[in-house]
Amino acid sequence: MKRLLVGAVAVLVGFIVLAFPCYARAPRDDAALAAPVQNGLLTGYVRDLLTGQAVPNAFVHLRDRPDGVYTDRNGYYQLSVPPGEWELAVIAPDYLAMSKARLSVLAGKTRQITFDLVLANPSPEQDEILFHTLVSPPEQNGADEPVVSGVSAASVPSSIRVLMPDGQVVEMDLDEYLKGVVPSEIPAYAGMEALKAQAIAARSYAVTSWNHPAEGANVCTTQHCQVWGETHYARTDEAVEATSGMVAEYGGQTIRAYYFAHCDGHTRNSEDVWVQALPYCRSVECVCGFDFMWGHGVGMCQRGAMEMADRGFTFDEILEHYYTGVSIYGWEPAPTPTPSPVITMTYVLTEGWNMLSLPMLLSDANAEAVFAPVAGKIDLAMQYDAFESYARWKVFNAVLPDQSNIEQIDARYGIWLRATEACTLTVSGERILTATDVPLNTGTNLVGYPSTTTRPIAEALSSIEGKYVRVYTYNAAGVPSPWLLFDFTAPALANTLTAMVPGSGYWIDVTQPCVWRVEP
Ligand SMILES: [Zn+2]
Ligand SMILES: [Zn+2]
Repeated sequence: MKRLLVGAVAVLVGFIVLAFPCYARAPRDDAALAAPVQNGLLTGYVRDLLTGQAVPNAFVHLRDRPDGVYTDRNGYYQLSVPPGEWELAVIAPDYLAMSKARLSVLAGKTRQITFDLVLANPSPEQDEILFHTLVSPPEQNGADEPVVSGVSAASVPSSIRVLMPDGQVVEMDLDEYLKGVVPSEIPAYAGMEALKAQAIAARSYAVTSWNHPAEGANVCTTQHCQVWGETHYARTDEAVEATSGMVAEYGGQTIRAYYFAHCDGHTRNSEDVWVQALPYCRSVECVCGFDFMWGHGVGMCQRGAMEMADRGFTFDEILEHYYTGVSIYGWEPAPTPTPSPVITMTYVLTEGWNMLSLPMLLSDANAEAVFAPVAGKIDLAMQYDAFESYARWKVFNAVLPDQSNIEQIDARYGIWLRATEACTLTVSGERILTATDVPLNTGTNLVGYPSTTTRPIAEALSSIEGKYVRVYTYNAAGVPSPWLLFDFTAPALANTLTAMVPGSGYWIDVTQPCVWRVEP
């Protein structure tokens, strides 16, 4: 009886506690009345694939959304995300930017996702281990395989039917499928041209495959066809996108683009391994440097493709070497551009400090000559050399010329220019027609933007994706603040800098020494 009473009191107390907030918190607006969306939780560890050690301070975030979290010293992260299907990405200094695609997150549920990061620049010894860990050369049974015969190179399908490990067949966008294949077939740190060659070989193989007719699928996700997984890397995604729609063709038809890990100095004729003599699978010399075979030996040697890329060969040259007589459908070598050879930039200078860059090749790059049009109206120009140990600031002193140590003005570097009165600076120079490499040191760099094309931040900085954390610029006439900021770690709405603009100077903060490639 007594126990029953205690129970009743407990229920009553519970009811009061639950009920009370309804009276205590009067709704103030409509938003307060709306039911809150319950998030799901993504959690796990970020580790080094080679050593298994924790990677602290890795930035884990949803792809295409800058908000995220850093791993703690145990490599652990926990990220609250709305329900839905997401791609979870991670960036860390010295490692390849990596992501896991197609993650379903349910309200109130926790999902454990562990990342094993791959070094961006492994030593030859590390590469040897990583290659064997990461790469699963396809079995590819040659003449025994059912194929879609006579696939015109002019009609590359946009989707593919994939037999998943659970037996379901999923129709997938072809390039999305390839983004899951390329990093399972070649290390993502391979040269970009080797990655592009691999993407085209995998695409050509995929669209000629009808390997699982019983299930109604073109390919499965294992070595039987091409290994497919949900792990993506920024570099392999880039290779797939850069070659979208391209296949290797022979006589107008997409080839059966066989490939394998490495050969012993020369590849094999298809009929020496299987039965059918394919005209484009001829034995060729190879620079892979091994003296034993790993894989069937027909078609492209992946180690050889990586070596050719390192030696400066382009993806079309690599494919044309390993597949005799083929050409690349869907690709046209860029025509030589013939824009006006001279550009003129006009800078409206505010009294005080101005930040700018000169995106052109100056006929006389001497600072005194460049600033001659505003002589008497400026007193100081400064540049910042992040690679100097001391005295990183370089000065052009218009009043005391012998105190100057800036000699040449260079399109790669940003300039702080102090005007003693409002004035206009006009500068002309030769248009830059090729990509410019801007070296960046760990920390802060004051750079120019040696381009005549305005681009969104992410696109302008795609060559250093995963390595920059902050970009900011100073527009002396800007309202309400002259500073415009793009912070990779800040919520998207907080970023006031959205594009890189010719003529502006920028501060870029990077996490490691790197080279920023700026397209003209
Ligand atoms: Zn298969
Ligand atoms: Zn080889």
